[in-house]
Amino acid sequence: MQTRLADWARDADFGREADEILRRCTHCGFCLSACPTYQVLGDELDGPRGRIYQMKLVLEGVGPTDKTLLHLDRCLTCHACETVCPSGVKYGALVDIGRKAVEDRVRRPLRERLFRSALRRAMAPPWFGMLYRIARVMRPVLPAALKSRIIPARAAGSAPSDPQHHARQVLMLASCVQPAMMPSIDAATRRVLDSVGFGTRYASGSGCCGAINFHLDAQDAARDQMRANIDAWLPLLESGKVEAIVVNASGCGGMLKDYARHLQHDPVYAERAARLVPYVKDIAELLAPMAAEIRAAMRRTSGRCAFHPPCTLQHWQGLRPLTERLLGELGFELQPFEESHLCCGSAGTYSITQPVLATSLRDRKIEAIQAAHANRIVSANVGCICHLQGGTDMPVRHWIEDVDEAVRG
Ligand code: SF4
Ligand code: SF4
Repeated sequence: MQTRLADWARDADFGREADEILRRCTHCGFCLSACPTYQVLGDELDGPRGRIYQMKLVLEGVGPTDKTLLHLDRCLTCHACETVCPSGVKYGALVDIGRKAVEDRVRRPLRERLFRSALRRAMAPPWFGMLYRIARVMRPVLPAALKSRIIPARAAGSAPSDPQHHARQVLMLASCVQPAMMPSIDAATRRVLDSVGFGTRYASGSGCCGAINFHLDAQDAARDQMRANIDAWLPLLESGKVEAIVVNASGCGGMLKDYARHLQHDPVYAERAARLVPYVKDIAELLAPMAAEIRAAMRRTSGRCAFHPPCTLQHWQGLRPLTERLLGELGFELQPFEESHLCCGSAGTYSITQPVLATSLRDRKIEAIQAAHANRIVSANVGCICHLQGGTDMPVRHWIEDVDEAVRG
């Protein structure tokens, strides 16, 4: 695609990056079939090709409107279009640039600005844990639409008694929404890691990976969180005290692996972020070499279930094949279902900011899974798990919880 960027974009780092991405797009349209919003809405402007064109116009100096903002807001940032693009168009990087350019030029209505700002604060500690606990108590009297977003508490079980005694240590994320929503996932992860010789610890000074701020129009605040995390984690990793950051929420894992891109123009942190990224491991990556050992320790198999691969696992990190192979080696009998490449509609805070589309995608996903006669779902990201659980009576949980239960008998 030919481009002629406006002066303000052409001479900036972000403009050069966007220009290179835009020039790769041939407008072939292969990506349309992979795009969830195009599948639901059937509007070119709500597909990757149309969004790319809208961002090109903005970067060329054509003033964006509230419609441009709407079509970019409706994008799930699922990266499914990247997976299928034959020209290697880095849509995810482009939409980060495009959204910022549009945000700088289109003022959201006051009510929306206040809502997004409140949402950012409510999703951060200590508010999120407190608010979620209150919502759980209030759940029986909440309207159905709200009730479905609040997942009943699940017992976490005990933590490993002495995780520090292991010679091998890994870091876990401390300040995510996950411990408040589903503490059972971290507890299961720590027990399974303990059973194969890993101690788990948290780094003081670290916090949220930055994804929530980044996707709610606060990219600068998100970058501050990234820098703080790098400062907290890198000395522990490079001194050899811990060997990896293990992530059991693929949304956070995808974000951490993108730190080098998000900080590429930071004179101090670009190089530090690049050093950090190789240490980031999804729980499946860490456990894959130990599959036989874990399988031998499992007192029963997990059996038949549907595996919903989150977009941040399959399209962002490219870890769907590895995870499915691992689950097969651990005795999961995965039942294939249609459209498993499509987003379930969770997508970070998307299910809150775009509830109609999110619910439509969720119901479509559950229908596809039911059509495959599955009666249980396992996944790899807390957001997807809660979102799907809100639309079905089938149990939905993280696969590591199944492994933990099977090891414990
Ligand atoms: S993003 Fe890729 S698949 Fe989509 S229109 Fe452009 S070149 Fe084709
Ligand atoms: S990231 Fe997902 S929702 Fe957005 S354009 Fe690409 S396929 Fe469509």
